[in-house]
Amino acid sequence: MILLDNEPMSKHTTFKVGGPAHYFTKAESLDDLKRALNLAHEKGLPFFILGNGSNLLVSDKGFNGVIITLAGDFSSMENLGNGAFKVGAAVPLGRFARSVLKQGFAGIHKLAGIPGTLGGAIYMNAGAYGQEIGCCCTQVTTLDGAGNRHEYTVNECSFGYRQSAFQKLGETIVSATFQLPTASAQGKTVADLEAELAECMAKRKATQPLNMPNAGSTFKRLEHGAADTPTQIAPGYYIEHAGLKGYRIGGAEVSTVHANFIVNAGGATASDIKELSEFVQSKVAEKFKIELKREIILLGDF
Ligand SMILES: Cc1cc2nc3c(=O)[nH]c(=O)nc-3n(C[C@H](O)[C@H](O)[C@H](O)COP(=O)(O)OP(=O)(O)OC[C@H]3O[C@@H](n4cnc5c(N)ncnc54)[C@H](O)[C@@H]3O)c2cc1C
Repeated sequence: MILLDNEPMSKHTTFKVGGPAHYFTKAESLDDLKRALNLAHEKGLPFFILGNGSNLLVSDKGFNGVIITLAGDFSSMENLGNGAFKVGAAVPLGRFARSVLKQGFAGIHKLAGIPGTLGGAIYMNAGAYGQEIGCCCTQVTTLDGAGNRHEYTVNECSFGYRQSAFQKLGETIVSATFQLPTASAQGKTVADLEAELAECMAKRKATQPLNMPNAGSTFKRLEHGAADTPTQIAPGYYIEHAGLKGYRIGGAEVSTVHANFIVNAGGATASDIKELSEFVQSKVAEKFKIELKREIILLGDF
């Protein structure tokens, strides 16, 4: 197990902000993971499982606990036959999505542009362009804080919009299994799926600030729009119509490309980003009487 002290979290988040983690570990096997969980237990510190840090805002003060990242044995992908796959939590979602597409399977190809790990995707039930990771998942395997293994059926995972049972369980997702339909079962060819993926990637490029550090959508899609625009459920619409595109606090900016993204425009602190997200929430609430709920996860004391 790799163990680092006072590791800057700005090196491990796509926002490129965040103070030091007291302990930062890289677990390459189940034994390593148990050792890392044990370290937290022995020191009486909380632990936090980090994927690619692409949906995360870590405090400038850092995290007084044990950060656990997964690698090695958690990076394997196994084709079990007949469209079934077992995938380790550290596998980049894009790698999994592109690999199964090449093998002729549909269901998750549109998720290839999401810059997280499989574990982070399951935890968040990541989704895009009408597909969600939970849709084709059949089972998730976890380890609890005491090192005990658990297996959850898809029903027990309680997948919903950016929701899963793992947000309450506090366990480490170690792997998941999937059952994917073939392209032909959907009346399509691999070339059709590749074209669909290319279209999604082009949309991302055209509509997202991919050249600046960010953590994807700041706020979750709304259940209902405002009184005047009940079918408008995109937070970006309200943020833009509140005149906030390009609004800055310190180095944090409401993206001029996509209003539901906050970008680190240079030298942003985590406090800048949090403050800006709260300012956006208050302005949108004031103007449209709707509540924006944060999708990005906060870690540490703010
Ligand atoms: C440019 C950009 C575009 C994005 N587009 C999308 C999009 O289209 N759709 C979408 O849904 N999201 C999108 N995101 C957000 C983000 O990529 C997803 O939420 C992704 O699933 C997070 O994965 P991660 O590995 O980075 O998780 P992290 O950000 O590292 O962690 C997120 C949460 O998952 C938990 N977690 C991570 N791994 C594990 C594990 N093994 N076991 C238990 N808990 C774990 C963490 O503890 C944390 O609570 C985007 C982000 C960026 C930067």
